[in-house]
Amino acid sequence: MTSDLAAALAPDVLERFLRYARIDTQSRRERERSPSTPGQLELARLLVDELRAAGLGDADVDEHGYVMATLPGNGTGATVVGLIAHLDTSPDAPGAGVEPIVHERYDGGRIELPRGGTVLDPGEMPDLAGRAGHDVVTASGDTLLGADDKAGVAEIMAAVAYLAAHPELPRPTLRVGFTPDEEIGEGATLFDIERFGAECAYTLDGSKLGELQDETFTAASATVRIEGVDVHPGFATGKLVHAGRLAARILTALPSDRLTPETTSGREGFIHAYEITGTPAQARIEFIVRDFDDDLLREHLDLLRHTAEEVMATEPRARMSFESRPQYPNMRTHLEAFPEVVAAAEQAIRAEGIEPLRTPIRGGTDGSVLSARGLPTPNLFAGGHEFHSVREWVSVQDMASAAAVVVRLAGIWADGAPGRD
Ligand SMILES: [Zn+2]
Repeated sequence: MTSDLAAALAPDVLERFLRYARIDTQSRRERERSPSTPGQLELARLLVDELRAAGLGDADVDEHGYVMATLPGNGTGATVVGLIAHLDTSPDAPGAGVEPIVHERYDGGRIELPRGGTVLDPGEMPDLAGRAGHDVVTASGDTLLGADDKAGVAEIMAAVAYLAAHPELPRPTLRVGFTPDEEIGEGATLFDIERFGAECAYTLDGSKLGELQDETFTAASATVRIEGVDVHPGFATGKLVHAGRLAARILTALPSDRLTPETTSGREGFIHAYEITGTPAQARIEFIVRDFDDDLLREHLDLLRHTAEEVMATEPRARMSFESRPQYPNMRTHLEAFPEVVAAAEQAIRAEGIEPLRTPIRGGTDGSVLSARGLPTPNLFAGGHEFHSVREWVSVQDMASAAAVVVRLAGIWADGAPGRD
């Protein structure tokens, strides 16, 4: 635990986290409405009730599943500051029937979970090894835990409830926002920035203690569609042109020892084929393309297109279409004009006795899109690890530290925009 403040917040953060984790809020990629699944609305309504009970009387959930609430300020500053986390959990691991387990004063050894043969091995998880002595929360082995992002939700809830109950602590006007469908890339889509009415915001959706992130990937998707010539195989001599085989040749022609998710790290980008379907008549490859540098991202897209065109040039009877779409921008471009927003977070983390960890996110957050839409929104740690898997875990002490950072951040903004120091 980093401070007395964190120690005071810990029981409430844990209690809330365990309650929220049990609600199945897994989002669904095939979205027909917002939110994509009813469980997210169930959690949204619970949070509205709890926010009202804490004294945030205007708390409500809109027709798209966005929760918003205000904690009026008590300082001299006029800046309204937003706190954002997402309601949904990832569709990439089972999300129903989550039964959290608290491993009190974790002994630093292997954690064997009761279901699914799941083992958390500190030998392979240095961050877990570093949490010996903490209270570590896991799921039961066959579901995700949902610390991504219910840790963030619980931390914001505990922090604003604490601030509401302690009016002697300085704070700006705070706007709380909980978003649906972040994991399927739609968290910011229907977020009403005007109604939210904050000048800047922070997502609590990071991982390690101390993380402060103002840089995400720039993201694009691309689709290659191929039409072959399908002929009865018994009469195909010299006629059949196999679309699926052409798709396979395109994949083989792309780099495999670089520019892939499994061969890159840090600031390196990649081209990732995440779905491949094909018959002799038709084939389709879906790609995501990522980089921190917009020029490099364009180069990756050009490489992809040229590689596909070169393969297709060998078979003029087949047809190909190539289509790419921007997904989200690197938030750094949009945060540079507001250095005080990141500086305040840095100051709050230091005030909690933690050294800020400035790492770029190899992914996106709600903040990538919100920052581009005019609401500067860097990302803060929430404490969870092994996101989107049955091995997901979070330390109670780290969650409490994140909630304490939010309380300190409020103090820093209470009298207006802080200077860089
Ligand atoms: Zn998340």
